[in-house]
Amino acid sequence: MVNNTPRHVVEGEVVDTSALISWPLERLFGSLASPKQKNELITNHPERMDIIDAIEIKWENPDKESIRKITDISKETGDIAGLSQIDIEILALAIENDCVLITDDYRMQNIAEYSKIEWRSVNTDGIKNIWEWEIVCMGCKMVNKTPEKPSDKKNDLGECLECGSKLKIRKKK
Ligand SMILES: [Zn+2]
Repeated sequence: MVNNTPRHVVEGEVVDTSALISWPLERLFGSLASPKQKNELITNHPERMDIIDAIEIKWENPDKESIRKITDISKETGDIAGLSQIDIEILALAIENDCVLITDDYRMQNIAEYSKIEWRSVNTDGIKNIWEWEIVCMGCKMVNKTPEKPSDKKNDLGECLECGSKLKIRKKK
């Protein structure tokens, strides 16, 4: 290790929800996040929210233009099928404010790479390459159309238009 100096105050990074939950507070100080993440924390991690409330997280909504930009990119890569509306908003915040994104979600890392958003992972090593995805039927193997919208149910992609079997996401070759 050449440089082991801890970074204390990190201003202006966009943090995903797993970063809000597991990052040390001094690293979260001054970070940007979406008000939807705040709601998520209030609902699922109220004790953590009490602590988070004590530091200066900036809860900001991304503008429509950046949401549209990220939605278009995730349609292009096929990641949209595995992203939630909150994920899209977090990415939109990063692109809009030209911030580093902190996330362990490999789909979000993928979109970040694609959109030239600088990113860092919370706990994992992160992705090494840009990936593209397609939606394929588990029955007839037909490649189905990539959805237009992010999904609420990350693992339910619906049914094949051709044969009605379940769909799954596959890495494009
Ligand atoms: Zn099918």
